Amino acid sequence: MDEKIRTLGRLIAEARHAVVFTGAGVSVESGIPDFRSPGGIWERCDPDEFEYSAFCTDPARYWRNRLAGRHAAALDIFRAEPNPAHIAIARLEEMGRVRMVITQNIDNLHQDAGSRNVVELHGNARWARCQRCRARIPVAEADRRARSGEIPPLCSCGGILKPDVVFFGEMLPQQAIDRAFAGAMACDLMVVVGSSLVVHPAASIPAMAAEHARLCIVNLSPTPLDDLADVVIHGKAGEVLPEVVAVVEGICRVGGGGSSSRGES
Ligand code: NAD
Repeated sequence: MDEKIRTLGRLIAEARHAVVFTGAGVSVESGIPDFRSPGGIWERCDPDEFEYSAFCTDPARYWRNRLAGRHAAALDIFRAEPNPAHIAIARLEEMGRVRMVITQNIDNLHQDAGSRNVVELHGNARWARCQRCRARIPVAEADRRARSGEIPPLCSCGGILKPDVVFFGEMLPQQAIDRAFAGAMACDLMVVVGSSLVVHPAASIPAMAAEHARLCIVNLSPTPLDDLADVVIHGKAGEVLPEVVAVVEGICRVGGGGSSSRGES
């Protein structure tokens, strides 16, 4: 087994407050392309369709295009299932080794895998939110209303429904930002999985954690924070993380885990 995997497993076992930060790369092995790699979503779907100002100006146009299949590549995510990386992260939370998962993803796969304390920085594509009263309903219900001719679909209060994901130019949900920064402040270890760390403000969360906590990165390609990290593993999350879990399970079986020691031995 790779020495770096052993080190990452040991750091997780020793951490008192580990937080995982994920991006699109954690879901690639579930069949959801990331944005920037070849074959990514923006090669198959027009990003202008997801401009917040365009939605506000003409929400009916957004819903007509969605019904016409113009967002099909983005909507692939409804067919995806958690992969071994999501399952490994959920297992670490179940073992009490990870306190929080902060994700940039909108695919709900962490929750499907069993993670419970998930902070979604960019919303969740399974839901639609009323732009007036902020109530949330399943997006499938908004789609049903649109298909039956209600374009744009409306909330029971009469407000316009929008998928509950952060569009380009839209503010991130304040409550999620507050929880994520609190998690970054409180953690003594942040493990980044599958993020290019170039999308801000999300990428500033691990940067902030690195000022006082250990930082570990599992990503296929280099990131701007690699130089700050204690461990960098360039590999596939779905292959690396189950091995990391096996290391943590081994340590916890032997020593109970959760030791207060943070040093390298
Ligand atoms: P990104 O596309 O910028 O970067 C993804 C990173 O994952 C890349 O650096 C790539 O090398 C790496 N990667 C690809 N496959 C991997 C694998 N199997 N294992 C480990 N790493 C792998 O994505 P980002 O950093 O999350 O930021 C971009 C935006 O993407 C976010 O705003 C997010 O909302 C959005 N997004 C989400 C989804 C989703 O919900 N699944 C899908 C696409 C994009």
